[in-house]
This record gives sequence, C-alpha cells and structure tokens, in this order.
Amino acid sequence: MQRDYKVAVVGLGLIGGSILKALRAKNIRLVAVSRSQETIDKAKKLNLADIYSTELEPVKDADVVFICAPIHKTIELIDKVREITDPTCIITDVASIKGFIMDHVNDYHFPTNFIGGHPMAGTEHKGIDHSFDTLFEGAKWAITPSRWSDTQDVEKLKELIRFMGATAIEANPYEHDKAVALISHMPLLISQALFGLINDYKDESVKNLALKLAASGFRDTTRLAATNPELAIDMLSINKINLKESISDYKEYLASLLDILNSDEDGFSRKVESIASNRASMYSKDGKNIYQ
Ligand code: NAP
Repeated sequence: MQRDYKVAVVGLGLIGGSILKALRAKNIRLVAVSRSQETIDKAKKLNLADIYSTELEPVKDADVVFICAPIHKTIELIDKVREITDPTCIITDVASIKGFIMDHVNDYHFPTNFIGGHPMAGTEHKGIDHSFDTLFEGAKWAITPSRWSDTQDVEKLKELIRFMGATAIEANPYEHDKAVALISHMPLLISQALFGLINDYKDESVKNLALKLAASGFRDTTRLAATNPELAIDMLSINKINLKESISDYKEYLASLLDILNSDEDGFSRKVESIASNRASMYSKDGKNIYQ
C-alpha cells in the first residue's frame, strides 16, 4: 500500500479508535472523524491520525472509509459518505448486525462500493479511552460484500484487515446474523438475565450471601451483562428475530439436559464429559478459537 493511500475512520469509539491505533504504524494516511470535539481532541493528543474533523468533509477523497458509529446510526452515515466520496472509494462498516444494512445498500439505485464488515473482537467498554492497538490481533473479521462489490476491492479490504492482525471471513449477511445471535447476542441476554436474577433475587438473605460469595465463575459468566448499554440494546433489538429463535433452541436444549439429569445419571455424566472436553479443546492455550 502506497504512502498516499488514505483511510478514514468515522466514529472514534472502542472500535474506531482501535482501528486507527492498529493502522497508525503502517504506511497509510489516516483521517479521523467523530461526532464530538472532545473525542477529536483525545485522538489528536494521542496522534492517531493525519487529519481530524467533526465533519465528514475530509473523507471525500479517501480510498477506504470505515464507519464505526453505533449500529442504528450506520445506515445514515453510509448514505452521507457515499454522497461525498468517489465511486472508487471502498466504504465499509463494523456494525454487529449485517442483514438490514446489506438490504439497504443492495437496494440503492446507484452503484455503491460498500462491503459490510464486523470485527469479531471487542470488550464491554465504550469510547476511545478504551481502544487499543492489538484489539484485532488473532481475531476473525466477517465481511459481507454487496451486489456492487468487486473482487479486487474485497481483496484490498482483506489486506487492510490483515494489517490489523485479523483474518477476514466472507459470510452471507443473513447467516452472519443467525450465527452472531447464537454466539454473541444470546450469551449477552443470558448474562443479563443471570445477573438480573441474582441482583433482584426474591430472598434478600440468600441474595446477599450469593453476592458476597460470588467469585471468578460468576464474574466470567456475567461479564457481558456490563456491555455498553447503547450497543447491547441495538444488538438485541435489531437482531430480535434471530435472537428469539436462538433462545427457543437454548431453552429446548436446557430442558433436555435437565430431563437427562432427572432420568439417566450415567447419560448425564457422559453428556457433561463430552461438553467439557469439546469446550476445552475449542480454544488454544493463548485463548484463540481453533476453528478456521
Ligand atoms: P462506542 O465506543 O460507543 O463508539 C461509538 C462512537 O461513534 C462514539 O465514539 C461516537 O463519537 C461515534 N458517533 C456516534 N454518532 C456519530 C455520528 N453521527 N458521526 C460520527 N461519529 C459518531 O461504540 P463501539 O463499541 O466502538 O461500537 C461501534 C460499532 O462497532 C457498532 O456498530 C458496533 O456494533 C460495532 N462493534 C462493537 C464491538 C464491541 O465489542 N464494542 C465489537 C464489534 C463491532 P463521539 O465519541 O465523538 O461522540
């Protein structure tokens, strides 16, 4: 990639800030755009880019634009960015749900060089203060080309994603939304329900003891309950249909586990052993998912 290659990031929160940090050491000109002057001042202090603005105007001659705003603002920003950029500019996003965004872009009457994206990395925190340069290292990054995307541009985006240490995985947007309902949105809702149940527990004395005794197991299984509420609400409400289906499958599976526990102790032991061994081998020692 040549030095005059220009990448713009719109929305400097956890993800947008981490993209700038991950690309800062590379030979690329970076444009940083965010809604508030306060965030732009923080980005300037950290020397995250070459150009800073609270307006979209400086993205107009970018080669690639990453839209990293909250999910419910993504479509509005894609519309604005496509109006001011050259048709050769690759526009991408990082929103955690892809189907409704791809439907919108595929319905345009004018070619728009949009490739959907979703980095499978994050934390429960929000904002530029929590962004870091290694967030995407070793992570998968789902990409969903639109009907306008050309193969060369898809390859260029994959290369940028590789620059950040991640691996791009092409996916169908609707399948992506079903998959993330299973591995991300359902665990979030279950984590919220688990924490909510204990925190609002009907027996005050048991509740107080439970909260006092809670250690790393409870901390790990409820970590997602502390997810940035704006993001959590967006994910759960926009992907509600897939989420409901996942929760229904989960309830069925849970009921079948309880049935085996009640009726077949040996069968239950075998099931638990099999789940434990499959879960133990899913991640390598350094915590990376072994599935490629
Ligand atoms: P975040 O930390 O809350 O950051 C969102 C940023 O968007 C804020 O910094 C805000 O800027 C900016 N913004 C809001 N409206 C804007 C507008 N109209 N124009 C320009 N900037 C605007 O959220 P995040 O966690 O980075 O999430 C951003 C996107 O990443 C979401 O679409 C989410 O689905 C996706 N994602 C998140 C995670 C995760 O774990 N967090 C993982 C994968 C993907 P100001 O600070 O200037 O107000």
